[in-house]
Amino acid sequence: MRGFRETAAFSSAKIAVPDVEKRWCQMNAELLIRPSLNDHKVVADLLAPAAPGLNRPISRLVVSAQDVARRPELAEVAAKSGTPLLIDPMTVLFQGVLAADDPWVVNVPFGRCEGYSASELANPFVLDTIVMESLRFQVEHGASAIVAPYFYAERPDSPAFDASLAAISRTAKRMRADGIALPLVAVLCAQLRGFAHRAGWQSALDRFATAAIDVGPQALGLYFSPVGRGDEGYAKVLELLLAGRHLATFGVPVLAWRQGIYGPALVAAGLRGYECGMGIGEAANARGYIRQHKPRDEDGSGGFAAQGTYLSVLGRSVPPKVARVLLADRSMRGRLVCDSPRCCPRGAESMLNSRGRAHAVRARARDLAELATIPDAGWRLHHVGKHAASAHVLATKANELLAAAGMKERVKPEGYAALEQAADYVRTHGHAGARDSA
Ligand SMILES: [Zn+2]
Repeated sequence: MRGFRETAAFSSAKIAVPDVEKRWCQMNAELLIRPSLNDHKVVADLLAPAAPGLNRPISRLVVSAQDVARRPELAEVAAKSGTPLLIDPMTVLFQGVLAADDPWVVNVPFGRCEGYSASELANPFVLDTIVMESLRFQVEHGASAIVAPYFYAERPDSPAFDASLAAISRTAKRMRADGIALPLVAVLCAQLRGFAHRAGWQSALDRFATAAIDVGPQALGLYFSPVGRGDEGYAKVLELLLAGRHLATFGVPVLAWRQGIYGPALVAAGLRGYECGMGIGEAANARGYIRQHKPRDEDGSGGFAAQGTYLSVLGRSVPPKVARVLLADRSMRGRLVCDSPRCCPRGAESMLNSRGRAHAVRARARDLAELATIPDAGWRLHHVGKHAASAHVLATKANELLAAAGMKERVKPEGYAALEQAADYVRTHGHAGARDSA
């Protein structure tokens, strides 16, 4: 229970933070939520006017292009509630051959199943067409900021990286020409290992940041892949945090894209916020995402993907049947159950029913606000490390329960141990702004 006493200590420390400062801090940690196709009603509830003094749990909505095309209600809810809306063009899907009936191919005007080769993406005419159509689509569907088309690059010398950089400046140019005065968000979509696990890794991030800053972006997205399965080792988590911190030193808000697992840790390392789904879509896997859209594969992006139950202490969602086993154990339930009467008035029962998606968002928002209220960067990392340590203990106990129940599912414990060490390293080695050399 060591970790819980730590949490309590932070709660009392919060009292010392002046209210103004507290509001400022909370405003500066963003939770971006990517709803699934059928989440429009839940999102409407979450974005309903909150009581005075209560923040709404979603800072911005991020909707995948194929979902906003099929479900315009998602954009309407954003507009009605005054919530900023980003429309993710999902242009990594150009990098595979997709099923002819894939929703992105069928419903998104620029979507196509044939894909583009690397050399086609390097062609300025192809790129300009993608830029123009993606821009028009986002404007027509009510985006409040434009996401430049981006592609998944395995290494800094991949043509896809050059294409992404070119797409940023071409999008800005096109917006100027068309008189579109919306802010721009530039996303770096890259293999974590190929970009961060190498000597001189900073230079590729610098290239991206320079290209993006050149157009005066509102924010940068950091979509490292694959990461977030929960079985990452120390080196990988450390590389993620150092790379995130490095990008944050450029002074433009950085948002972790598709990162519900290490998102809070990245915020502690200096990022402005993180994006993930509602009990789903918590890990980044660009290649896996493209694979899901290939012919004869089940479409993983539709409205029927299995959402999990978010467990705050573990910082992730687990399949509902796993949550059911864990919440049935009395001592475990005490640690896992949501104790917010507003969010889950009937405790475990509320967490497990269909409102689990709302719980996932509210609980993440509370956890992020708690982190953001800690005024010192070092203490934020300390908080993340302690949280990871207690999650590691809890994951081990959870796995004993799951084994005893004859279930094959497990909560991966390795990532927690890695995160505890990595957060400690980042905390003790240099301040944000230092040029990292690890
Ligand atoms: Zn709850």
